[in-house]
This record gives sequence, C-alpha cells and structure tokens, in this order.
Amino acid sequence: MGNKILVPDTSAILTGSMNLLGENLVVPSGVIYEIARGKPARILRDQEEMLKIADPEEGNLIKVKEQASITGDLKYLSSTDIEVLALALEKNGTIVTNDYSIQNVAKSMNIAFEPCGMDPIAEEIKWVFRCKGCRKIYEENIKECRICGHKIVRYKKVE
Ligand SMILES: [Zn+2]
Repeated sequence: MGNKILVPDTSAILTGSMNLLGENLVVPSGVIYEIARGKPARILRDQEEMLKIADPEEGNLIKVKEQASITGDLKYLSSTDIEVLALALEKNGTIVTNDYSIQNVAKSMNIAFEPCGMDPIAEEIKWVFRCKGCRKIYEENIKECRICGHKIVRYKKVE
C-alpha cells in the first residue's frame, strides 16, 4: 500500500475488517476516545498501538465545519467526524468510512475516501429541508419552520 495514508473513522476500526498491519494509519484522538468508551477492550488493546494519533490544526477544523455547513451535513457530524475530515485534509489522506455525511463532505472538499465493506455514494448528495408541519421546503439547514414552527427534516434532493 506504499505511503498512502489512511484515516479511518471509529466505526471503520470497530468493524474489525480493516487490515491495520502494514498500513499507514492516522487517527485523531477523538477516535481513540470513542473506541475506549464502552467498546470491547480487546479491540483497543489489539489495535490502539498500531494507530498513530495526530490532531488536526484548528484552521482545518474550521474549513471542514464551514464546508459541512454548506452541504447541510454539519449537524449530522460528531466532533470526531470533523476531526477525521480535517486530519485527512491536512495529511492528504484517504478517509475510511461508511458514514454518508462524512463521505459527502469529503467529496465536496476533494478529500479521498473509501468505504469499509460497502459501496460509496455514487454522487454528492444535495439535501433539502422540509417542514413536518406545513411542508414548506427550505434550501438551508434550519431547526424549525419559520412559518409554523414545526420540526425540519432533511431529504435527499432529487435532481
Ligand atoms: Zn412549517
């Protein structure tokens, strides 16, 4: 696999399907915390020492948050997800994830990603936001309807 840097998210590691030996793996410390928290200790013991930990610069975290806000994925990303994206941006790495929101933001930022045992999304998803009450469509991601105050749900936009 040469010098290709892989940045797996927490679930990619926990699936156990990644070959961690001989790979150039880097994760943000958030991933280590998530693995440690309530997950099988066996996985942590076996795998943690193979993972290099690096935390992304603040500026890259901000870039990712800004872009995720534009694509509408921000509220679906954990702080660890954002760290994974920022780290891959910084290291020119390839994210390993099955999380559609991470994949979507990665695609929009030209960050390479690959799935862990399933197909990646074929194209970038655009989201629309629709009120559960009056069904008004919003292009931007808001919490509640400006007209009737009901909850907003997001949908994939059909082109
Ligand atoms: Zn409404």
